[in-house]
Amino acid sequence: MTGRVDRRVAIVTGGARGQGEAEARLFAAEGAKVVLADVLDDEGRAAAESIGDAARFEHLDVTDEDNWKAVVAATEEAFGPVSILVNNAGILAFNAIDRQDAAEFRRVIDINLTGAFLGIKSVVPSMKRAGSGSIINISSNGGMEGLPNLSAYASSKWALRGLSRSAAIELGRHDIRVNTVHPGGIDTPMTRFEGVDQTKAPFYKYLPLKRIGTVDDVAPVVLFLASDEARYVTGAEYAVDGGHLAGDGTLAGGW
Ligand code: NAP
Repeated sequence: MTGRVDRRVAIVTGGARGQGEAEARLFAAEGAKVVLADVLDDEGRAAAESIGDAARFEHLDVTDEDNWKAVVAATEEAFGPVSILVNNAGILAFNAIDRQDAAEFRRVIDINLTGAFLGIKSVVPSMKRAGSGSIINISSNGGMEGLPNLSAYASSKWALRGLSRSAAIELGRHDIRVNTVHPGGIDTPMTRFEGVDQTKAPFYKYLPLKRIGTVDDVAPVVLFLASDEARYVTGAEYAVDGGHLAGDGTLAGGW
């Protein structure tokens, strides 16, 4: 099957690299016009250029409402009304609760949660003009469980589920669907730490599927939710985590 998002117009935040770039590339391959929006200008421009005429880059800090308005306007002008939004931009901040200052906690919430709220708020008028829409909010396994030393991150990712379900109820009458995707450990710049081969971390050998995920494991699920194949799916939550949330493989000693 090809052309699964033919003639759709998509904005992917955090589109300069990692999962966002892979999603943008797949959307374009399936017939969409796509705006890669990110704070990383050089990487974002290079990624858009490598995708070709179906893609362009726009600078976007997801915490800035005026910046959102400008990006939606530029997208409409270049490609037409927006019908797909992937709220994918996100950051991590490792810290114990008793050592984390409030500014750092707020920064994570601001990007991972408020950024998605501003994205939804900003694209809804455009999606109404498009006649329908699909919003995919990238949460995490950390939106389904606690994560030590990542309390701000986990809090933001849990809250995204509340935002998504509420938006799904509000926006369904406009045929705008809102769903969350919950990646587990995915090999991207976010999870690459100097001197550590993340792909060999013990965590992965206890997963049912026994390996770290890749951007190409996640992008097809996002594509499905963006496409008409998911036309009756809203307010739903999709884990893409090698089975991590199915349960604790270490209880059986690992196999
Ligand atoms: P990534 O490679 O770090 O990509 C995230 C992108 O978002 C980066 O280009 C980042 O730029 C950008 N960004 C950060 N703050 C921004 C802002 N204020 N406005 C616009 N863009 C901003 O990470 P990824 O793994 O692809 O992550 C994509 C999403 O998946 C995130 O929401 C993440 O929380 C989620 N996720 C990832 C994993 C994983 O294992 N990789 C697991 C579960 C969920 P900077 O470099 O400047 O930060």
